[in-house]
Amino acid sequence: MAEESSNPAPPPADPPADGGEEGAAVSKKAAKKAEAKAKKEAEKARRAAEREAAAGAAGQGGQAEDLAKDNYGKETHETVLSPEAADINLKSIGEEHVGKVVVLRAWIQNVRMQGAKMAFVELREEGSWDIQGVVAASPEGTPVSRQMVKWVGSIHPESFVVVEATVQKPLDPVKSCRVANYELHIFKFFVHAAAPGMLGMTLAAANRPVANFSDEEPSVEKAVEDLNIAAAPGETAGIPAASMLTHLNNIVMHKRAPVQQAIADVRAEVKDLFRSYLKSHGFKEFEPPCLIGAASEGGADVFTLPYFGKEACLAQSPQFYKQIEIAGGRKRVFSIGPVFRAEQSNTPRHMTEFTGLDIEMEIKKDYKEVIFMLEGVLLHIFRGIKERCADEIELIRSVYPSEDFLLPEPGKEVRLTFAEAQKLLREEGPEEYRNVSDDEDMSTPQEKALGALIRKKFHTDFYVIDKFPEGARPFYAKLDPSNPKVTNAIDAFIRGQEVLSGGQRINDPEELKARIRQKGIDPASPGIKEYVHVFEQAGVPSHGGGGIGLDRVVAWLLNLPSVHLAAYYPRTPRRLLP
Ligand code: ATP
Repeated sequence: MAEESSNPAPPPADPPADGGEEGAAVSKKAAKKAEAKAKKEAEKARRAAEREAAAGAAGQGGQAEDLAKDNYGKETHETVLSPEAADINLKSIGEEHVGKVVVLRAWIQNVRMQGAKMAFVELREEGSWDIQGVVAASPEGTPVSRQMVKWVGSIHPESFVVVEATVQKPLDPVKSCRVANYELHIFKFFVHAAAPGMLGMTLAAANRPVANFSDEEPSVEKAVEDLNIAAAPGETAGIPAASMLTHLNNIVMHKRAPVQQAIADVRAEVKDLFRSYLKSHGFKEFEPPCLIGAASEGGADVFTLPYFGKEACLAQSPQFYKQIEIAGGRKRVFSIGPVFRAEQSNTPRHMTEFTGLDIEMEIKKDYKEVIFMLEGVLLHIFRGIKERCADEIELIRSVYPSEDFLLPEPGKEVRLTFAEAQKLLREEGPEEYRNVSDDEDMSTPQEKALGALIRKKFHTDFYVIDKFPEGARPFYAKLDPSNPKVTNAIDAFIRGQEVLSGGQRINDPEELKARIRQKGIDPASPGIKEYVHVFEQAGVPSHGGGGIGLDRVVAWLLNLPSVHLAAYYPRTPRRLLP
């Protein structure tokens, strides 16, 4: 045995002087005893050597060499990963990876030391995709030493790291990680970019529902309270929620929160579904300008800015430009882009910049073609999101609870006229709406009450209201030829909140000028004159379209408390940063 050869037993003791059988027996016994003693000594020496090495590895005494020193530390240009190790994505990890050496680049979400020889780490790659990693010191001190384990324990959460590991199946599923059926046995560990010791907002806090959306700077007490949310990462219970202001002041952690990433993913899918549906229905995409010479929707809600000695405006909608496209011979167009409103509306529904999803199309026979198209694209989005984003919706619901979004059965879409909707409110709505009028626009609480009524009565969270009173629509809305008190204009609602306005536009220049005058506007005023001229230049076919607020669709579909959560960088009267 190795111990015996490296620690040879001492020679047997001399035989006793009197000799004889008894003497021989005694000397045999003594030899055996000596041999056993020698073995024990050798084992003791071996263990002592091992202890010494371990103590050195743990930095006690600092004598022993760290045999794993090349396997951890700050990543540099000299860092070497095994050429055979494949880069892995947590989303696609599977049985085929078990036993294989892989490389993962991820954020440290949590580190837990298990004595001096082992550390458990949670590594998050994107969204909520995380996995458990085990870093265990090897008896030989390499590839993982105790020093390395200790160093791993000192890495700050949210540092970006690169690890090389073997994929293994844990004894029991790892409940705390999304990738529960596999774990990484890590033997190389490098920090690519370190996070500070104290985060402005922990991931756990960032993943809690936003506490309030006020843009007011919080009091000192409130700010301190918000800062105190820096609890242990990964912990959810007992972590106070932060305000939107704290979230935006810590924009990186806000964005890293799995709930925000899921919202962003849903948003991207909504855009994609909008675009693909319209393209498949013959619509062409175009880009309207943001910088324009006069207010596009009139009124005071326009941002102005200096423009080479003159004044320019930021477009309040692509309305006129969509119509110019139709006048210019395009049959069906759509645009996706920023819309600016200088409204002092500090509500969960408003921002000063939002993303408009706009369409405009030629009408062949009836303006209902426009309603069906707008309804069709929204239903396509809702059904597509349910199908494509089931995981994201589940994750978002765990933070912002919501009831299932009810959709109408195909062919049973709910379309009410404004007058029918008001009648429903008068007859079946809350007491305060007993006298609502058919000529006045609805208030927001009224719209919400109607949404609840329609959900109960028709089992849908999506519906269209048509024939808005003429006073509630802009000058370009076409009046109903058979009842000029109302317009061929619609709004669409989800969960009782407006997400779309649209309808038929006036295409006859004389009719248009008359409506402009009726609204108390001079048809020769800047911006309006040029608009009217579009219809005077050549014959323009009947047309209509609509504008959908992307941020609102995302927010109300997911039942978020504010549209600000659906935007990447919400802009409000007080907020221009980040
Ligand atoms: P509201 O009455 O709620 O202020 P609006 O009638 O002014 O909205 P439109 O001008 O018809 O809205 O705009 C079309 C769509 O754009 C709306 O249905 C909504 O989804 C979205 N939208 C309008 N204003 C805002 C805003 N300030 N912030 C976010 N989205 C908006």
